[in-house]
Amino acid sequence: MINALEQYDPQIFELIRQESARQSGSIRLIPSENYVSRAVMLASGSCLTNKYAEGYPGRRYYEGQQVTDLIERTAQERAKKLFKADHANVQPYSGSVANLAAYAALIEPGETIMGMSLSHGGHLTHGWKVSLTSKFFNSVSYPVNDKTGLLDFDQIRDLAKKHRPKVIISGATAYPRVIDFEIFGQIAKEVGAYLVSDIAHIAGLVVAGIHKSPVPYADIVSTTTHKTLRGPRGGMLLCRQEHAKNVDKAVFPGLQGGPHMHTLTAIAVAMAEADTPEFVAYAKQIVKNAKALAEKLLEYGFNLVTGGTDNHLILIDLRNKDIPGKKLAKALDRARIVTNYNTIPGDPAPPMNPNGVRLGTPAVTTRGMKEPEAEKIADFINTVAQNIDNESVIEQVGKEVLLLCSQFPVPEHFIIPGRNSI
Ligand SMILES: *Cc1c(COP(=O)(O)O)cnc(C)c1O
Repeated sequence: MINALEQYDPQIFELIRQESARQSGSIRLIPSENYVSRAVMLASGSCLTNKYAEGYPGRRYYEGQQVTDLIERTAQERAKKLFKADHANVQPYSGSVANLAAYAALIEPGETIMGMSLSHGGHLTHGWKVSLTSKFFNSVSYPVNDKTGLLDFDQIRDLAKKHRPKVIISGATAYPRVIDFEIFGQIAKEVGAYLVSDIAHIAGLVVAGIHKSPVPYADIVSTTTHKTLRGPRGGMLLCRQEHAKNVDKAVFPGLQGGPHMHTLTAIAVAMAEADTPEFVAYAKQIVKNAKALAEKLLEYGFNLVTGGTDNHLILIDLRNKDIPGKKLAKALDRARIVTNYNTIPGDPAPPMNPNGVRLGTPAVTTRGMKEPEAEKIADFINTVAQNIDNESVIEQVGKEVLLLCSQFPVPEHFIIPGRNSI
């Protein structure tokens, strides 16, 4: 399918070819990124992109829904089985919209939400100041403990008692440890708040049983579909039956028009893939790889926030190395290792030039890399950090990275024959 594009739009085809080569020829350590399967890619590029399906199965506003109804019902059933949830809404365009819909389903504008501070690992949509979630709702943030980098439940409980939020949000975008959703549920009950759990990053670990699921404790669970879950870019909401109507109304017509049916279709495919022993093994390997990478980095004298990792993600605190996060991330990118610079808890530096770099292993694990390769990646990172101003060393590391990439090709990727040299 992709090769036909060369005929119709050579300019865009060439750019896709370049991006394909970049994705194959670099090590992706951005913890929110992954590589989808050929099956997900095909569903996502299918004729379902042509169909409007405003509404829900059996209750649509346009005709011609003979097939879309079946697809959406299949996606809903797969989501309910996978996450052991009473109800699933598979229409949110992204994790951000899913979060806004979750709040809108539970509370009124102007009421108080309380989520993890962005600079301590929370997401923008958890009520951070520049996000509309902090303008539609009154927003309070909780930090992590400055010394340990861990969630501090005494502090969270105190803040909840003081501010009496109507919604508490548990979940993170840069937290390397297990999140205890049960305690969050207790705190929410104590203050009469609803609990929204955002598992955008860890959904794949949750369905594999490696991270405890928030489904028994949360009123609504929100997730993306494209991070560890390894589907197309999208969002999803899971909830108890009591909230089902409000959740559906909040997504459509509350926030969205027609669902992106091609994405929804590909989400269904990804959930079937996630419901296999192979996926469980994959998710386990993500964590093993993150632990191997973390341990080797510690050996090289890197400080890691919370001292290591229990999940797919690592946050390096670079203050002892005296290298700004941005500088390391840019040097690593020149060495074909793609990361992102990130604030660390209590970071005194500004967000545009923070002291941290965030790493994750979902994408390299999809390529089949295991602990020895994770350690090799730590070697590369250390070499770049030690030679941060030496371009010839950085270039040499880039060559070694390319060799490693060629040994672990991107599975089922759009290979453009003869032109995809990496
Ligand atoms: C990525 C992420 C989101 C947002 O997802 P988008 O699809 O980018 O809108 C929401 N919450 C958390 C915790 C995330 O990590």
